[in-house]
Amino acid sequence: MSTALVVGAGVVGLSVARELALRGHRVTIADPNRPGEQGPSAAESRILRCAYGARSWYAELTWRSLGRWRELERESGQQLLVPSGVLSFASRGTATGWEERSLAALRRLGVPAERLSPREVARRFPAVGTEGLEFALYEPEAGVLRARPAVRALAASCRVLGCAFVRGEARPAGPGCGWTTPSTGPT
Ligand SMILES: Cc1cc2nc3c(=O)[nH]c(=O)nc-3n(C[C@H](O)[C@H](O)[C@H](O)COP(=O)(O)OP(=O)(O)OC[C@H]3O[C@@H](n4cnc5c(N)ncnc54)[C@H](O)[C@@H]3O)c2cc1C
Repeated sequence: MSTALVVGAGVVGLSVARELALRGHRVTIADPNRPGEQGPSAAESRILRCAYGARSWYAELTWRSLGRWRELERESGQQLLVPSGVLSFASRGTATGWEERSLAALRRLGVPAERLSPREVARRFPAVGTEGLEFALYEPEAGVLRARPAVRALAASCRVLGCAFVRGEARPAGPGCGWTTPSTGPT
């Protein structure tokens, strides 16, 4: 079994730590703050969509992440994803082609996505104004991630898998890496 130090208990650090622990590594996670306490990952909510232009590798990752969040919902017994659907708007005249490229990438990957005309947007989403709209890209399975509870659920899962948490800031220490611990010890 190898050991790993993960610096930062945001969504990325915790996901890496969890995956390493699942693969049998002994993991320590260092962060001056408690998970879900500070930083962008600890916000109330984050949009989870798969449309990212022509970058189909990124679309594929986000599509796979939906399944992993649902897995964590089952494990934690709480709702983390709110499947509201996500609309992206292509404006008439100023469209950059981003929405078209996104749609093509999603269709290649088999990710549910629809091209909605302004008339269809008005019919299905009457609260949305359609003036200047060329079309909208609708991802019915995308939605909102409840970011703070999601990060805390990830941290809880890491603990169950045996990860150790240390409160401290990592600093480069010559050829290796060390950290100072401003608090009294593990959280
Ligand atoms: C306003 C805003 C809106 C956003 N909206 C969205 C959105 O809708 N959808 C979306 O997908 N993304 C969105 N993002 C981006 C998303 O929130 C971030 O990409 C993601 O949270 C980054 O996670 P992270 O783990 O890399 O970093 P962070 O969440 O920043 O976590 C880094 C952690 O590392 C710790 N740390 C830093 N330095 C050290 C050190 N030296 N030693 C120990 N610990 C350290 C910090 O304390 C922190 O806990 C948004 C970002 C912002 C700012």
